Amino acid sequence: MSALLESYAAGRWFRAADDGEPLLDAATGEEVARISSRGLDVAAMVRHARDTGGPALRALTFHERAALLKELAKHLMERKDELYALSVRTGATSRDTMVDVDGGIGTLFSYASKGVRELPNDTIVLDGGLERLGKGGTFVGQHVYTSRPGVAAQINAFNFPVWGMLEKLGPAFLAGLPSIVKPASQTAYLTELTVRLIVESGILPEGTLQLLAGSAGGLLDELTIHDSVAFTGSAHTAGILRRHPNVLDGGVVLGVEADSLNCSILGPDVRPDDPEFDLFVKGVVTEMTVKAGQKCTAIRRVLVPEALAGPVEAALADRLARVGVGDPRNPEVRMGPLASLGQRDEVRKAVEALRASGEVVFGDPAGGSLLDGDPQRGAFMTPLVLRARPGATEPHDVEPFGPVASVLAYDGIEAALALAARGRGSLVASLVTRDPQVARSVVLGLAPWHGRVLVLDRDDAKESTGHGSPLPVLVHGGPGRAGGGEELGGVRGVLHHMQRTAVQGSPDQLTAITGRWTTGAARAESGVHPFRKSLAELRVGDTIASAPRTVSLADIDHFAEFTGDTFYAHTDPEAAARNPLFGGIVAHGYLVVSLAAGLFVDPAPGPVLANFGVDGLRFLTPVKAGDAIDVTLTVKQITPRRGADYGEVRWDAVVANQDGQAVATYDVLTLVAKTWPAQEAR
Ligand code: NDP
Repeated sequence: MSALLESYAAGRWFRAADDGEPLLDAATGEEVARISSRGLDVAAMVRHARDTGGPALRALTFHERAALLKELAKHLMERKDELYALSVRTGATSRDTMVDVDGGIGTLFSYASKGVRELPNDTIVLDGGLERLGKGGTFVGQHVYTSRPGVAAQINAFNFPVWGMLEKLGPAFLAGLPSIVKPASQTAYLTELTVRLIVESGILPEGTLQLLAGSAGGLLDELTIHDSVAFTGSAHTAGILRRHPNVLDGGVVLGVEADSLNCSILGPDVRPDDPEFDLFVKGVVTEMTVKAGQKCTAIRRVLVPEALAGPVEAALADRLARVGVGDPRNPEVRMGPLASLGQRDEVRKAVEALRASGEVVFGDPAGGSLLDGDPQRGAFMTPLVLRARPGATEPHDVEPFGPVASVLAYDGIEAALALAARGRGSLVASLVTRDPQVARSVVLGLAPWHGRVLVLDRDDAKESTGHGSPLPVLVHGGPGRAGGGEELGGVRGVLHHMQRTAVQGSPDQLTAITGRWTTGAARAESGVHPFRKSLAELRVGDTIASAPRTVSLADIDHFAEFTGDTFYAHTDPEAAARNPLFGGIVAHGYLVVSLAAGLFVDPAPGPVLANFGVDGLRFLTPVKAGDAIDVTLTVKQITPRRGADYGEVRWDAVVANQDGQAVATYDVLTLVAKTWPAQEAR
């Protein structure tokens, strides 16, 4: 008997007392492992996550969490051969394994990088700008995101045992939520190995990742407000979870990513000898054969102009006939088996349903020939293409979770959009067209029904990541039948896990709460120019208020001549007088900003190393010759960079005229040494 998988629960590996259920190799039918969660104390897992993992994680800043994710990604990358070796038993070819293993690790890298670049080195995230709520500016509002003191339960599908776990773990971890991962039983041995590698590494704080191997029985019963469930799998199970009392009334947030009948549309402009025709056919074949079509994003409905249905079917047949199906251990094999014999039965049933309104135009529903492998013991299935009859309903209702697609002919763009919408919401649609007008009208029609839309043509094909690949930086999820959930999408995927709160108060209180200087809060002028202070010495609110400088016509003329910006409003008095906004010569906005720099800069070598940008620059009041401008520069935010001798300082800059009116506002971004003189840093 093979080994019983273990759960990683409350800081130790737990082994059920019974023998468990066998899990079989998808290609050979041999037993790979057994699985059972009998006797597992799920309540203790939830307590452990809540009491140990959550507090440890939330003590870290986003940047510290991101650094751990990066270390973890590197660790898994070094050990990925072990994952590859086991992955073949799920029926995955090496191309499939790359999608699962490398795709999962890549998602961690991506979140590690987003966490540092797009989130603060803090535990609170600001959402949007400051809202002034009173005339005097003493009462303001700011939206903020904070971590929920909860647990992220993640219930995954069988098709991506590594990616499925990591794409949910990465964003939840960054958000400060400990995860309890429940993989689908069928392929849980690969998730278990991944969790073993993670736990052995000691990289993640204890309690931030636990594994529930076996039935999830009772997990939702233990969850409450602030906890969430991210589910990927069938619409049927999603329905059961949606009706759980803790979801209905207990405040548990449920995100669902379920079966979806994705489509690919061949644009009406494409001719059989266009490169787009081949791209379309290639895309459909890839989606039918990667993971043997067991992908939530796979193309199930192939929408083509009526006149091209025949040529598309012929081209699909030509390519699919060359796809060798068999045991993925054979390097000639391009498509492996389905995950289990049970899954194959399900797909065969779905094909029978589709045949009620369609005919098979490629493939053998009774079996088809294999490159190798035993069709009795292995869950092999060869690709099938059906042509749906006009008015067919089954292709829009039945999801064959395997290498099966239906061709549907359409007459006109409106008809294509109507067919696409009959899927009642899906994860992704693709459109292959060269015509920008077609692209706009079809994408606007598709977008409300889909989480992602790919527009493919000869220009982006080479770099395109394809129809079926969810990307960490783009949202994954779709409306309606696809479950209505949304995952990934860069920082969006992190913020989904956090609580947004509108905080109202005085500017000083908001500064203290957010760690970021708020307009109207106290400024500190110490007599020492803040450019003479190292990062360690600088404080939020440190300010320099400059002396005024009068802007002369000679300054404006000189700037125009020197830079070549001789726009009439700066150089032609008569034309400028007719300008309805200026009514005469005005200074260049960039002259104002340049003069402001001249007013606030402290020139001698010091801790300020570089200016790396300006954010939110707005010119508010025109500056005319004779106006006197001054600038107030205030430390808004201080962000030490991990592993560097310097950090980032964001300065609030306000340039005002002699009447106290703001003429320009912006944030100046600088790099400042952590200590100064620099040699002390070494
Ligand atoms: P299921 O919905 O049966 O299982 C998905 C996950 O939910 C598994 O981890 C499963 O665990 C778990 N689960 C099952 N019942 C419960 C429950 N009552 N409470 C909590 N968790 C539960 O989907 P399958 O993986 O079996 O796939 C079936 C079909 O779902 C496929 O044929 C396909 O149509 C669709 N599917 C869609 C996917 C997508 O990404 N959209 C991905 C995979 C499948 P266990 O395995 O232990 O039962």
